[in-house]
Amino acid sequence: MEVDFTKNTDGLVPAIIQDARTKNVLMLGYMNEKALEKTQESGKVTFYSRTKERLWTKGEESGNFLKVVAIKTDCDNDTLLISVHPVGPTCHTGSDTCWNEENNSNFGFFSELENTIAQRRKAAKGDTSYVASLFEKGINKIAQKVGEEAVETVIEAMDNKDDLFLYESADLLFHHLILLQAKGFSLKDIEAELMKRKK
Ligand code: AMP
Ligand code: ZN
Ligand code: ZN
Ligand code: ZN
Repeated sequence: MEVDFTKNTDGLVPAIIQDARTKNVLMLGYMNEKALEKTQESGKVTFYSRTKERLWTKGEESGNFLKVVAIKTDCDNDTLLISVHPVGPTCHTGSDTCWNEENNSNFGFFSELENTIAQRRKAAKGDTSYVASLFEKGINKIAQKVGEEAVETVIEAMDNKDDLFLYESADLLFHHLILLQAKGFSLKDIEAELMKRKK
């Protein structure tokens, strides 16, 4: 790996530490050549600590190691991006990240959609939104709706009309998200369940 340790007079390069699964940034530290070597050899992120003035393996006291998944350099080889599996909370404050954030999975647009659904649910009774009206009708009605969309998806899967299949699949996922919320669950719970089955 090509890393330019000469750019900074102290021989240090910044290392951005990113969770390999959630892609959240966990912390930022600095590495010299020895720190990078030790990181690669041990598979545990090791910085050069400017306060301790020595190599510092993150987790050496707390046990909250950062297990290396992959190391990349940036376009001009002066910054490292290290993706890791964190063993515990990364920050010494006990927080998941050094920005006092939870290291939650982010499902992109689907997380946005979950938030929108939650807002519609909270909206005052009589809200004209479709989602609000579904919540008002109750869980059985929502579950029935999921059943209908599932059947429609199955029917379109058997045809050769991809656009209709996609349309019904979107309906199905959307209504399933609503049902999940009505039952008090979220995509995070589905993720946890599926991850339990991972071999
Ligand atoms: P650890 O490496 O987790 O065993 O922590 C040892 C010491 O390193 C702590 O007492 C803190 O002073 C410092 N430390 C740990 N984690 C961080 C962090 N994410 N950012 C800055 N300093 C840290
Ligand atoms: Zn750069
Ligand atoms: Zn911190
Ligand atoms: Zn439909």
